[in-house]
Amino acid sequence: MSAEKKEIDWGSLGFGYIQTEKRYVSNYKEGAWDGGCLTEDANVVLNECAGVLQYAQTIFEGLKAYTTEDGHIVAFRPDLNAERMEASARRLEMPVFPRERFVDAVTSVVRANAAYVPPYGSGATLYLRPYMFGSDSVIGVKPSQEYQFRIFCTPVGPYFKGGAKPLTLCVSDFDRAAPHGTGSIKAGLNYAMSLHAIVGAHKAGFDENMYLDPGTRTRVEETGGANFLFVTKDGGVVTPKSDSILPSITRRSLLHVAKEYLGLEVSEREVYLDELGDFAECGLCGTAAVISPVGKIVDHGREICLSSGMAEMGPVTKKLYDTLTGIQMGRIQAPEGWIHVIE
Ligand SMILES: *Cc1c(COP(=O)(O)O)cnc(C)c1O
Repeated sequence: MSAEKKEIDWGSLGFGYIQTEKRYVSNYKEGAWDGGCLTEDANVVLNECAGVLQYAQTIFEGLKAYTTEDGHIVAFRPDLNAERMEASARRLEMPVFPRERFVDAVTSVVRANAAYVPPYGSGATLYLRPYMFGSDSVIGVKPSQEYQFRIFCTPVGPYFKGGAKPLTLCVSDFDRAAPHGTGSIKAGLNYAMSLHAIVGAHKAGFDENMYLDPGTRTRVEETGGANFLFVTKDGGVVTPKSDSILPSITRRSLLHVAKEYLGLEVSEREVYLDELGDFAECGLCGTAAVISPVGKIVDHGREICLSSGMAEMGPVTKKLYDTLTGIQMGRIQAPEGWIHVIE
């Protein structure tokens, strides 16, 4: 069944919040999750002393649903979001929302908002935001006793309007994660502390921050919300290895594509700031853009220019982008289990 679509100009949507009809809610109380349900109420009412408000006990995920070439509505690898949210929950002493229930909740939110799933070819997608937070009052520092798990969705526009222009990054003097800290989980707190750094970078004319490893500040980690892929001059793909990088599902998928679909040599290893000039291409990986090309990295006035330049995506980055988006949209055969068909 295909619901009548909303009258939205899909092509001109940005990345913003548009309230849709239904969202999913489940509450955790006395050691157990309730059955969960869809609701039309987009507001959350909390006690003034709720754990999330006082001590930032909150985690989230992000994934998308979209229409494939043959007209199905699907989600991309939601099982990996469920798995990553479990890791986030354990690190912040929050209860785990069961993985199967997570995928079922994603499915029911997308079905209930099928009218907001952009049509194939529009470039737009339905962005899903699962999240969980401590909802009861805590004044002494300790984990909450009660939690709420929710998923809302919002249609978002094509990331690259009028082509993907390479970005300019600046090497940040701030750190996004501490050694042995929470860099590898998707916690709201990781974003709160990155806001000052990104506002400063934007004021200085940069698109994003490149964060270094907080221990030695010699190795590349990631940006505020995307992992790095580098392409060597002989066409190999390299991604930084570190315990404080958030394991991007897009980056892991692109590495698989590089190796199994494009036959490229792939390695996950420590990447030093000093060697960046040796790479031919650089890309930022995340759900929203899949892969955004980087043309230049500025380290305190020293310009590191990727040989792919500032005019367009490098050839390997483009191949990776075309292959993964082809897999997502059903134009290229997907690996087993990557495409979760919703209707
Ligand atoms: C969410 C996120 C990413 C991208 O992960 P995807 O699963 O590919 O969307 C990268 N870095 C950080 C810090 C993130 O929070």
